[in-house]
Amino acid sequence: MPGRGERSDGRGSGERSDGRGSGRFAPSPSADLHIGNLRTAVLAWLFARSSGRRFLIRVEDLDDRTFSDVAARQLADLSAIGVLSDEPPEYQSAHADRYDSVIAELAGRGLVYECYCSRKDILSAPRAPHAPEGAYPGTCRDREPPADPARPPALRLRTDTFTYTVTDLLHGEFTGVVDDFVLRRGDGVTAYNLAVVVDDAAQRVDQVVRGDDLLSSSPRQAYLAALLGYPPVTYAHVPLVLNAEGKRLAKRDGAVTLAEIGVAPALRRIADSLGYRSTTLAGMLTEFDPAGLPHEPWVYRPV
Ligand code: GLU
Repeated sequence: MPGRGERSDGRGSGERSDGRGSGRFAPSPSADLHIGNLRTAVLAWLFARSSGRRFLIRVEDLDDRTFSDVAARQLADLSAIGVLSDEPPEYQSAHADRYDSVIAELAGRGLVYECYCSRKDILSAPRAPHAPEGAYPGTCRDREPPADPARPPALRLRTDTFTYTVTDLLHGEFTGVVDDFVLRRGDGVTAYNLAVVVDDAAQRVDQVVRGDDLLSSSPRQAYLAALLGYPPVTYAHVPLVLNAEGKRLAKRDGAVTLAEIGVAPALRRIADSLGYRSTTLAGMLTEFDPAGLPHEPWVYRPV
C-alpha cells in the first residue's frame, strides 16, 4: 500500500526518537470548514493512521484574513467528526522566531533578495523566453534598491531552477514551476510557502495530504525543503469538491458546513463519496485503500 513503510527513520537529523513520522491537516482559519475541507481532513487522517503515522492539526493563521473564532470553530468541527490531533494544535502565529531564523539562514547563504515590484509590475514585466508562465520574471534579482521605494520590499528566494519534480500518491510524478518565490511579504507576513515547509519539518511531518489546488505549490515547497536539508515528504493531493455547476464548493452554495449539515449526515456523505459503508472514522480506516481513491472531483449537492 502506498504510504505504508515510508517513515522518517534513517533520514539523518530529522529522525524521530520513536521512528514515526506524522501526517497533518493544516487549515487556514479564514472561513468555516465546508464538507469538502472536512473530507480532505478525513482523508489526511486516514492516510496518516493507515501508514502508522501520528496525526497533527496545525492552524495556519499568519494572514490578516484569518480569525481566532474561526480557528476555534474549525477545531471543534474536526473534533466533532473524530479528526483529532495527537498533540495540541500548533498555531503558525506563534512561530515568528522559527521563520525569522530560516530566512536569516537563507540570507546568510546569499539566497534572499528584496523585491520592490507591485503586482502590476510583475504582470507587465517582459518574461525570459525559457521562464514558465506565472513565474516571477526576476526583475529585482540583481538590481539596486530604488532610491525612494513606494512600498516596503518583499523578500524572495534566489532559486537556480525553473521547475522541480515531486512524486504524488495520486498524481504520480508532477513537474511544476519554481520561480524566485516570496518568503516574506512586503507587509511583513511570512509567506505560506516558507511557513508550511518550516513547520512541516519542525513537526516531523513526512506526509502531506491536502486539496489538489495546492499541487502546483508543491514543487516550490519541495525545492525549498531540499535547499534547507529537510527530509522529503510524501504527497497526496486529493480532488476538490465541486458544486452542482462544477465550480469549487463555497459557503454560498448553502448547507455546506457541519453546523448546517449535522455530524452524522456529513460523515455519511463523506463515506459515501469515498465508496465506504462505514460512517465512523475507525470503520473507514478498515476500508481505506489509497490505490482505490476516486481521482475525480466529488460533486456535492445539498439534500
Ligand atoms: N493552510 C492551507 C489551506 O488552508 C493548506 C496548507 C497545506 O495543507 O499545505 O489552504
